[in-house]
Amino acid sequence: MRILVTGGAGYIGATAVDVLISQGFAVSILDDLSTGHLDAVHPSASFIEGSLLDSSSLSRALRNCEAVIHFGGKSLVGESVEKPDLYWNVNVLGTRALLDEMQKQSITQLVFSSSAATYGAPTEMPISELAQAKPTNPYGVTKLAIDEMIAQQSSNFDLSAISLRYFNVAGALESSRGWISERHNPETHLIPNLLKSTDSSPVKIFGTDWPTPDGTAIRDYVHVVDLVEAHITALKVLEKGKHTIINLGSGRGYSVREVLNSASSYLGRPIPHVDTTRRPGDPVSLIADISRAKEVLAWVPRRDISSMVADTAKSFEIA
Ligand code: UDP
Repeated sequence: MRILVTGGAGYIGATAVDVLISQGFAVSILDDLSTGHLDAVHPSASFIEGSLLDSSSLSRALRNCEAVIHFGGKSLVGESVEKPDLYWNVNVLGTRALLDEMQKQSITQLVFSSSAATYGAPTEMPISELAQAKPTNPYGVTKLAIDEMIAQQSSNFDLSAISLRYFNVAGALESSRGWISERHNPETHLIPNLLKSTDSSPVKIFGTDWPTPDGTAIRDYVHVVDLVEAHITALKVLEKGKHTIINLGSGRGYSVREVLNSASSYLGRPIPHVDTTRRPGDPVSLIADISRAKEVLAWVPRRDISSMVADTAKSFEIA
């Protein structure tokens, strides 16, 4: 079975490609390398460099595929606030083009990389898929618009689809070709920033006055390998003409201070940091209710925060 992985040169996409190929799937990759990396492209995959909005690349990439795992898109919240049109064009119009071309080529199976950003800042924790979706930034708006578009495509044209709403993805996979690491520029994520912190450029702790036990914000971190395994199971449980939304997290929250302590204990030294004001747009707490993932995918995350920290550090060749 051949699968198209859009965004297969990015952090999560390249990890998924590696696991798919190791499980015997044939893989095609469509990636425009705007944020992905050529050296992350698996040598056994068929690689088409191009964008979803380039119809000839898209139609070539889909050829002979039976299913699509769709990671491709823009994913930085801050950037989406500055460039909402870019996010709408790449994410929403790109996915529209993908769905149309899939229909044209009679490809009916889709797993989509959605986000907890679709929920916004709900007050009820943990967050189930039934929580009201009220995104607070353009990135979340695009992911929600895509989820809705996919739902329509399922009911109108029998697309079989699952949208996986990720919480905070971390960690890395050691593949036969070496570590597949998170490489964002600029890096905004907590675990990479903690591990790369130095005396001259200490990591900032965004807010120590949140209404939480230690005053720092709480997030639900999930290991990228657990996350990818859920995608592969999702492919196997797709139902004809049905669209299902499933949260992927670990089901428990860690405060920024707890993650800092975990990274510090991995490194065996204190991590230089400065306490600063809250980052605009950050909610206090985001924790996933993962009961639907457990039920529909028979999936449980197996890797904890210390292995996320350790694997991220190893992928950066730190310690
Ligand atoms: N955070 C921080 N310093 C950083 C990066 C992140 O204190 O350099 C905090 C951030 O405010 C949030 C949590 O760590 O509470 C996770 O942030 P991240 O950017 O990793 O993911 P997000 O939850 O924004 O998707």
